[in-house]
Amino acid sequence: MTLAIVLFTQDLRLHDNPALHAARTGADQVVPLFVTDPAVTAAGFAAPNRTAFLAGCLADLDANLRRAGGRLLVREGDTAEQTAKLAAETGAAAVHVAAGVSGYARRREQRLRRALGDRLRVHEGSLTAVPPGAVLPAGRDHYAVFTPYHRAWQQAPRRTPLPPPRDLRTPEDLRGAPLPTATPTARRLPDPGEDAARRAWQHWRTENYADLHDDLAADGTSHLSPYLHFGCLSANELVHLAERRGGHGAEAFVRQLVWRDFHHQVLAARPDAARADYRPRHDRWREDPEELAAWREGRTGFPIVDAGMRQLAETGWMHNRARLLTASFLAKSLYLDWRSGADHFLHHLVDGDLANNQLNWQWVAGTGTDTRPNRVLNPLTQADRYDPDGAYVRRWVPELAHLPGGAIHRPWKSVRRPAGYPLPLIPPDSTGHRLRTARIPQDTLP
Ligand code: FAD
Repeated sequence: MTLAIVLFTQDLRLHDNPALHAARTGADQVVPLFVTDPAVTAAGFAAPNRTAFLAGCLADLDANLRRAGGRLLVREGDTAEQTAKLAAETGAAAVHVAAGVSGYARRREQRLRRALGDRLRVHEGSLTAVPPGAVLPAGRDHYAVFTPYHRAWQQAPRRTPLPPPRDLRTPEDLRGAPLPTATPTARRLPDPGEDAARRAWQHWRTENYADLHDDLAADGTSHLSPYLHFGCLSANELVHLAERRGGHGAEAFVRQLVWRDFHHQVLAARPDAARADYRPRHDRWREDPEELAAWREGRTGFPIVDAGMRQLAETGWMHNRARLLTASFLAKSLYLDWRSGADHFLHHLVDGDLANNQLNWQWVAGTGTDTRPNRVLNPLTQADRYDPDGAYVRRWVPELAHLPGGAIHRPWKSVRRPAGYPLPLIPPDSTGHRLRTARIPQDTLP
């Protein structure tokens, strides 16, 4: 009788799960394991919205494993130690785990390797549709620019999605810990888990995505990001499902999933980019706790920025266009360090993800992979373009709701500006000024 352990990390699903599939195929008994590791909390990866969502995903995973004949075992402590301890307890012949991309995941893998030797099986291609390193430019260890990556990605081989296992058997007598708990700061989180993720995909229509994905009020994007972050849906399977739907919308949607793969392959090659500038510009970021607090709390006096920040605080999620313009406002208009903005996002986002968050922040701040690092997104132009009638602002900044149409974006011009709503934090016509005066031009960089 052989036994294998599957260590679940960011792959909380039964469908298209290479680690689970390999464990079931190679052993008579399977112990699905999740370790609640205090190091994740200490590193700042755990935040109330994500922990609450994670707890629901684990409950759903357990229910699905039970339906397939097994169950989820939860243990608490250092992941490598707990996994090695369980392997000794059960005499496991193999421990299967999905490959990660963060520095933390790499160190976890190394420690598991030291503890388990060649009993450890690391599965590539669980987190992304195309694994980091599967496509490479000549002589480099990753792509630093999206467009050539996208072209190479389209030619890359992809796995056929794996079916969920049916007849799992997990020993009865193993002692587990309770699921993690947390009280979310958001009013309402999405339904957690694999079943909810599959339902969300089935109910979401791709047809209008290409036209509507930047329209703030239409809210026409998939909202699948939390499920992708925790692996309730495999990115690989999602690409297959979208391609099967076909059409212009599905194509545009797959392109966004390629952005996700792109950022993951950057972080895999440069784990330091989670904190360090990917392309240093020798910025001398300003420090201004009051401006930072106004941005965080959605009271900058720029309604479109405040709407995004309030959507984040209330729901733990923000529309991509709002993420772009609020991040640009912090890093380029206020000229405050992108790390302080990224930390705030990570604290609230239910989809908060090291690769996507940090590298998108770097892209916006001009220290990342944007080929036009000094571009500034003017919040007023963005508001006029992506929320022309002001419906998005009206939803999230209700004290301005009485201002008609697009006039809502410039309340300082209206005699009906409510007294409690702040005046703009910086002059509305100066949104790129601080960056232009403080940042050393690229051609004079050392
Ligand atoms: P859809 O438009 O339906 O896209 C489908 C999927 O594609 C998303 O779920 C996501 O996995 C991926 N995707 C879409 N856009 C991007 C992108 N620009 N980069 C990488 N992947 C993308 N996404 C996160 O998942 N976690 C984060 O922590 C995160 N932080 C961000 C911070 C900033 C400053 C910016 C500008 C973007 C950030 N994004 C992040 C990317 C993007 O905003 C979200 O993935 C998207 O808004 C999620 O909504 P959706 O699932 O409805 O997206």
